[in-house]
Amino acid sequence: MQPWLVDKLDGDGVLDKNTRLTHKPRPRRCLQCGVPVLAAMDDLGQPAYLEPVPVNNAGELKALMTGRPTYALDHGAIYTRNHWHIRGRPADTEPTYAEHACGAPLPSRPPRPRPAATDHPPF
Ligand SMILES: [Zn+2]
Repeated sequence: MQPWLVDKLDGDGVLDKNTRLTHKPRPRRCLQCGVPVLAAMDDLGQPAYLEPVPVNNAGELKALMTGRPTYALDHGAIYTRNHWHIRGRPADTEPTYAEHACGAPLPSRPPRPRPAATDHPPF
């Protein structure tokens, strides 16, 4: 990428010049422990390294109680979940990602159950 474009995108807040992160999460590896993480620039323009598996309500509570912010996606870009998001759209109902902490896994969302195949229409 051309240096002038990097400067322009950095100035517009779309790209972090030092980390080359954007608002859209990308797979990376944690520099300390080497596990896969999602890396992005959050809505405040700070680098964020997220656990790649969404958390459930208990996982979000544990993350917040240990000082780890949680994030959700809006059109592919991450934003920090605040008390309005947490109350209105609990982590069990919306993909929610917690900040990565080395060696500190969180309760994650169970995989969505597949609808049982029946002969009865769902009504
Ligand atoms: Zn780590």
